[in-house]
Amino acid sequence: MGMRFQRHGRWVYRDKRWPALRIAAKRRDGFKCVQCGARHRLEVDHIEPVRTHPELSFELTNLQTLCGKCHASKTRIECGHVPLSPERQKWRDLLRDMQRNPIEQKGNDHA
Ligand SMILES: [Zn+2]
Repeated sequence: MGMRFQRHGRWVYRDKRWPALRIAAKRRDGFKCVQCGARHRLEVDHIEPVRTHPELSFELTNLQTLCGKCHASKTRIECGHVPLSPERQKWRDLLRDMQRNPIEQKGNDHA
């Protein structure tokens, strides 16, 4: 089991305790998404991510039932895939400027 597993928290889902815990969490939440109330594609999410709070991995109080959609959007935010950061946006703008002002524009004055 490498560090990568540990960091991403996947080892939790391989633990023998996980299946029972997952069912317990869903039962407690009434088999519906705690965010939008959906009853399909339910997944059990760690409120405090395993990555940062491994000691809470098997605490029922740290689990919540989410549908696939809510879970995916929460995970995306945690992983930092948020809309473009200011630096990123600046880089995009720079690239766009370069495309708009091609280098060959200069130097043809004496032709
Ligand atoms: Zn949902």
